[in-house]
Amino acid sequence: MANIGYIQVVRHCNHFCGFCSNPTTPYVHTFDTMKVLVDDLVKRGYFGVILTGGEPTLHPELPRIAAYASAQGLHVRMITNGSRLADPEFARSLAEAGVRLVHVSVYSVRPDVEASLRGTDGTLEKAFAAVRNAHENGIEVNINCVINKLNADHLDENIDHWITHHPYVRHFVWNNLDPSMGRAEVNQAQFTPRLSDFEVSLQRAMRKLHASGRSFRVEKVPLCYMTEFAWASTETRKIVKGEERIVHFLDNKQTVRQTDWEHIYAPACNHCTLRPICGGLFDRGAAYDPEELYPVFVSMDAVVETIITDPSDPSYPLRTLPAWKKDFEERLAAARSGQDKPRASPEEMHPPDAPPVGLVTEKGLRLFEAKRKSEAKKAESLGVSMERVEIALPEDGPNGV
Ligand code: SF4
Repeated sequence: MANIGYIQVVRHCNHFCGFCSNPTTPYVHTFDTMKVLVDDLVKRGYFGVILTGGEPTLHPELPRIAAYASAQGLHVRMITNGSRLADPEFARSLAEAGVRLVHVSVYSVRPDVEASLRGTDGTLEKAFAAVRNAHENGIEVNINCVINKLNADHLDENIDHWITHHPYVRHFVWNNLDPSMGRAEVNQAQFTPRLSDFEVSLQRAMRKLHASGRSFRVEKVPLCYMTEFAWASTETRKIVKGEERIVHFLDNKQTVRQTDWEHIYAPACNHCTLRPICGGLFDRGAAYDPEELYPVFVSMDAVVETIITDPSDPSYPLRTLPAWKKDFEERLAAARSGQDKPRASPEEMHPPDAPPVGLVTEKGLRLFEAKRKSEAKKAESLGVSMERVEIALPEDGPNGV
């Protein structure tokens, strides 16, 4: 399987999104603490690593850890807001370090909407420059977009821009807002969309991309809002192929190994033909409404077949429907044997053999306090709330200076 792990290399950022799900913490990484996590992914046979944050380009050792991961045979990717990548020299240094793919995160091509979502002016032009610089240095570029209340009505307008002005971008990723963590949790009313808010514009956007020969994935959107593109759901693809995901969180959660892609379901789901391969409604923060789900009556086999025979994704070895069904039923039977257990919490998803993630140092704590103060002022000026903070210091105090 083409499993890809995530390493949060920093948790601070040069933007201030009101729905950031992974904001600042006192944890820090050194090259050595990141190296241990890369080695862990290699040991688990992972295909690649995504360096993320916070804003990963703010870590001074980013090129070095990218080069190390690349030398270990991992496909090295990065999720970035693009501000530092607007510098062509920096883009070149990452290409030379072995970064093969960057996901540049842009929420809206409308400058006023992007500025209010980023809490920062002038980010859009930098993101466009980042996309160009990465492409010119031979790094593949994907566009990531968090679906939220402010961009929900013009996801297709964003796609028009990318196709017209950056035709070399061939792959797009939408993530519906995760309302369960960080600032997203405390600012749900401002940023969490209704599913119906984005239904039409997402459908138009997916159709435009598909017609133009581009590919895309959509995460945290139930299949009843994916129309004919159910095969593009990240959760569905992972359920069908039995994939897992490891995230090395640079916070108290530490390492989370996600193998269960099912979220929550409504009574309507009991009548739906896609129920076995649908991730349902992502709603750990009670922000989305199960009343918005409705059963669909389309062929599940057709969706599965599209995924397992996808020529651009040869990672799943069983390429026929009968072989997949046998494998899937065996996996279901194994899952049912543990059915009486309650859903695993993030703590329970912590693999016992996982290495520690990062350090809480005296210096990290001081920088964290300073950053919280400056961010609190910013939050007040933007009219958003600051995230809740839980800091669990190691029992013997900070573990570095
Ligand atoms: S009704 Fe339920 S199972 Fe069916 S597509 Fe919607 S969320 Fe998925």
